[in-house]
Amino acid sequence: MYKINDNYLKLQGSYLFSTIAKKVNNFKKNNPDNKIISLGIGDVTQPLVPTIINKLHHAVDEMGQVDTFKGYAPDLGYEFLRNAIAEGDYRTRGIDISIDEIFVSDGVKCDAGNIQELFSVDNKIAVCDPVYPVYIDTNVMAGRTGAYNTINQRWSDVIYMPCTTDNNFAPELPKKTPDIIYLCFPNNPTGTAITKDQLQGWVDYANRVKAVIIYDGAYEAYISEDEVPHTIYECEGAKNCAIELKSFSKNAGFTGVRLGYTVVPKELKCDNVSLNTLWARRHGTKYNGAPYIIQRAGEAVYSETGREQLKRQVDYYMNNAKAILEGLRSAGYSVYGGINAPYIWCKTPNNITSWEFFDYLLEEANVVGTPGIGFGPQGEGYFRLTAFSTYENTIEAIERIKKL
Ligand SMILES: *Cc1c(COP(=O)(O)O)cnc(C)c1O
Repeated sequence: MYKINDNYLKLQGSYLFSTIAKKVNNFKKNNPDNKIISLGIGDVTQPLVPTIINKLHHAVDEMGQVDTFKGYAPDLGYEFLRNAIAEGDYRTRGIDISIDEIFVSDGVKCDAGNIQELFSVDNKIAVCDPVYPVYIDTNVMAGRTGAYNTINQRWSDVIYMPCTTDNNFAPELPKKTPDIIYLCFPNNPTGTAITKDQLQGWVDYANRVKAVIIYDGAYEAYISEDEVPHTIYECEGAKNCAIELKSFSKNAGFTGVRLGYTVVPKELKCDNVSLNTLWARRHGTKYNGAPYIIQRAGEAVYSETGREQLKRQVDYYMNNAKAILEGLRSAGYSVYGGINAPYIWCKTPNNITSWEFFDYLLEEANVVGTPGIGFGPQGEGYFRLTAFSTYENTIEAIERIKKL
């Protein structure tokens, strides 16, 4: 008789977004004439830029010609894309990443979820609190997290690194030594970033305690401040301890197109075993790669016109972020993030809970955001707003909140 993998039975329900949807639908039913504005979405809304659309059309046509048709893609991804990445994301910043250290994928959620397979289930993970839930749930599935405590909402074997106003949302080195450290900067959900010096501290720590850092750079394109690093490999020694994940979802609007990549440096070794070799094997065995057409679209992201058009798109969202930051600040709210990321992390007024504030905004302003508690216990008393709506809706939502 077959049995279910016990680890899957330990997963906690994805309470957050289903509860939001339920509350919003309920409100709509009772107030059919009210216009609800969502600043809760963690998804882009602007269409793909023209350069990318042209490239997609061209690649589709190539697939219909006998001399340019493509079958199975190379395991690591097409060289034209890996060359563009090595040049555009690394060499231009003075960093040498070779193309056989770059693994093209269909996005970072999968890579963040799958990369833990390389490590022993005995390894201890450290995550920020609040956190992008994928890092935890994939380790629950792997059996690495221990027992769940429903009262404090924590897994017994996970090392939590609180990110609060006390540390400006930059985690401190954990007291217990982890084996695998998940970092994401600029951060979702807090929208905050850390400096290169701060990140260097993490790299030095990881090398000292022989931990591996899994660095999620999904929001790199939104960085506006000079002291914020664009890749972990700007830090000395990072190639010995860090894996970097990069997504095309937020910088190029590929949430529905699907493309990402992972860098596993050749220097990254555990007891002389190369993680690059293991990941290459895993990629070749369990993964089919991103489609040719999409990899061509990814190449266009690095072209001169692609860059210009995408910069305008990022500027559009960051203009929304500025409006949210300034509007809420002038209304007396304490707000964080929004400078190097499309997320604003807002303290709830009068210390009400995240869910109380959610209900209040929905009912009184017809604005939807995301309760901070949904990202971890330290998110209680906070609220995430995103800059991914239209400018007009963003302005209207903020005006409504200011009038409360
Ligand atoms: C949106 C997001 C991603 C992107 O994941 P894809 O699977 O590439 O769309 C990755 N990490 C974080 C923290 C995100 O918020």
